[in-house]
Amino acid sequence: MRTVATFADVRKGDRGSVALVPTMGYLHEGHLDLISAARRSSDTVVVSLFVNPLQFNEDVDLAAYPQDLARDAALAEQAGADMLFAPPIEEMYAEQPLTSITVAGVGELMEGDHRPGHFDGVAVVVAKLLAGIQPDRAYFGRKDAQQLVLVTRLGADLSFPVEIIGRPTIRERDGLALSSRNIHLSEAERGAALSLSAGLAAAASAVEEGETDAATLEEIARARVDAEPGAHLEYVTLASQADASALPALEVPAFLAVAAGVGTTRLMDNVHIDRVDGTWVPDLGSRLDRPSILYGEA
Ligand code: AMP
Repeated sequence: MRTVATFADVRKGDRGSVALVPTMGYLHEGHLDLISAARRSSDTVVVSLFVNPLQFNEDVDLAAYPQDLARDAALAEQAGADMLFAPPIEEMYAEQPLTSITVAGVGELMEGDHRPGHFDGVAVVVAKLLAGIQPDRAYFGRKDAQQLVLVTRLGADLSFPVEIIGRPTIRERDGLALSSRNIHLSEAERGAALSLSAGLAAAASAVEEGETDAATLEEIARARVDAEPGAHLEYVTLASQADASALPALEVPAFLAVAAGVGTTRLMDNVHIDRVDGTWVPDLGSRLDRPSILYGEA
């Protein structure tokens, strides 16, 4: 695997079909699942690693974001990447961009509401990666469900010749959704964080029993988080997979999303809900059978 720093280097040579896995680094099994899927689909797998300042609302959050290039390079290679694109800031933003991209509506609720400007920053960096790397496929996690909706619309609206592929969420054995930010959680906070996935699991069970009302499903998830003194709920919303708008009930493919603060860490999680053979089927993703590599090497 080669580590490269410029778009020109990523595009060099005969690459065959190209799959891109965009990340902010500090890789875990969620990222590795995307890389493995990319490996199965394409001749060349490019993993990008860039902590995009445009999408951070607070400087302290940006400064605290975990980084370890040597660790990430080893993990990306093991998972099957051919290239690690780790650009310096000058390659991405030689000048502060004057172009802004707003995917109207999609970025307004939930994360958009709590992190003003966040999705415009995501849209710019994703557009730059798609334009600069020119992949045939790009892989994203459903863990960031609203981001996946946004990227799908961005690709279609701007005619990027790329297929956007979403993959299910990878979780710890106890249900906690993997996130690079989890390494900031203390033991007690780690316990409180479980209220998010527990709330979603309870709502998923209600869906399996036939519940379709948004307010009821949101209340089931909210109750679990509210019962945990260490977790501070920001929102719980049933939203459409097509445009991330809030839904009054399950009537189109949806996701139930939750975000909460635990200590100084902000956590997000969601359950995807699709219609299969006439019934609503929740998908929480899959659980590892051992602690993730976030808690020590594999
Ligand atoms: P990040 O490095 O957090 O920006 O994430 C890079 C990509 O990995 C995004 O498409 C995320 O949605 C995806 N991702 C993050 N966490 C998970 C997870 N637990 N399961 C699956 N995909 C994930």
